[in-house]
Amino acid sequence: MTIFDRAALPASLHPGGDDLLLRNVRLWALDQSTGAPAMDISIRAGRIDAIAKTGELAVEGRREVDGGGRAAIPGLVDVHVHFRDPGLTYKEGWVRGSRGAIHGGVTSIVEVQNCPPLSTSVKAISDRLAYVESRSLVDFGCLGNLLSDSVPELEGIAARVPAIKLFLGCSTGVGGQDDPEEIRALFAAAAKAGRMVVAHCEDQALLNAGEKAYPEATAEEHHLVRSAEAEVESVRFAISCLRQAGGALHVFHITTAGGVQLVREAKAEGLAVFATTAPHYVLLSCEDAGRLDCFIKVNPSVKTKADGAAILTALKDGTVDGIGTDHAPHPIDHKTREYAKAPSGMPSIDLLWPLTLELVRRGDLTAAEAVASVTNRAADSMRIADKGRLQVGFDGDVVLFDPLKTRTVVAADLPSTSKWSCYNGMELAGFPEVVIRRGELLMNEGVILGIDGPDGDAGEVVANGGKPLRLEAVRPHNLA
Ligand SMILES: [Zn+2]
Repeated sequence: MTIFDRAALPASLHPGGDDLLLRNVRLWALDQSTGAPAMDISIRAGRIDAIAKTGELAVEGRREVDGGGRAAIPGLVDVHVHFRDPGLTYKEGWVRGSRGAIHGGVTSIVEVQNCPPLSTSVKAISDRLAYVESRSLVDFGCLGNLLSDSVPELEGIAARVPAIKLFLGCSTGVGGQDDPEEIRALFAAAAKAGRMVVAHCEDQALLNAGEKAYPEATAEEHHLVRSAEAEVESVRFAISCLRQAGGALHVFHITTAGGVQLVREAKAEGLAVFATTAPHYVLLSCEDAGRLDCFIKVNPSVKTKADGAAILTALKDGTVDGIGTDHAPHPIDHKTREYAKAPSGMPSIDLLWPLTLELVRRGDLTAAEAVASVTNRAADSMRIADKGRLQVGFDGDVVLFDPLKTRTVVAADLPSTSKWSCYNGMELAGFPEVVIRRGELLMNEGVILGIDGPDGDAGEVVANGGKPLRLEAVRPHNLA
């Protein structure tokens, strides 16, 4: 499978950017030896045009940034965020959310609207992209929503989105589907429109059974109410739909050893299946519910340590393609309600790189595996072009950090709206210190630049912000 076919993209699609010479950095995942040479990265019009040992590139009077010998990785690509704007801006917003992204080293995001208005028409998705472009500080893609309402305009929607989101199961957010024949028809429509289906996989009948079995449930039983079996059966069904309809499937936020095994087998079968997980499914387990209470209430639920270990193995062997946050913010006074009334979801985009580096510090992933899971492999899993690699021709998105410098997470100080975190009080390393997006400095020495005044009011419009992500090629994505 050829993932990148950038030759097929007209140059005019490139959104451009700044000129910058980034000097004296170490390409971290490639070479962590202390004797590794310092490198310079040249960015012209937003794209990397040369990488060479420090001093070998001509300065030519261009703007320079001295990296101070810090570690450099590509800007992170978070393939799964909910910024709730428009619709529920008291929970988040594009300016505040994308400030959180920059704090976490994220320069590209894929956003999923799970509050009205859903993107089920060409007008809705076009309006949405224009709205986001005036507010996001990072580059972005928005998913379409796959409902029977979307089918008449699906080809027009498909031309504007990386993929189309389908909820299997009704009880999360809005727009869920639980009729098997309807779901099969939606897979067929997506394949015909040439776009990948991104699926939230939880079987509604098993979720109903879980609620019935645990009528007085607490946060500690959330993983039993929304069981491992509910995910496994739903993944099995989604793969059967893919096998029948063709096209491509991306399983979002995979949480179980059983689900991972089904994806492994489907990949071996040659099906175009991708899967991503979220930091909480590998850094936390259901045993943490005792101390975190409903902060850890997310859908799908956080499962056992054994499930987390299976996901890590799958990240290493390529079964799971990447890590996306599923950043799903709620106000703290909603999350401190009793179990039945607390909404599901947690924020984490502000911490994506330090959380991913934590997996290296724990010995779970190599540096190269960790970086790939939030950069190039994440981009590939959503067919995003030009992002996630420090290579000539790719966008000049760079994050600098010190892997040995640690800091204790203070949730109240994080830039996104929630001000609470499951990782509050945890000592993490490698907080991004410099963040560059298409040659433009978004964060310098830990300070996010360029946004003055109110801290991202919902109505605030930003200049020179993020641009729509480009897809790997202008061609149908039916790989089957
Ligand atoms: Zn989500």
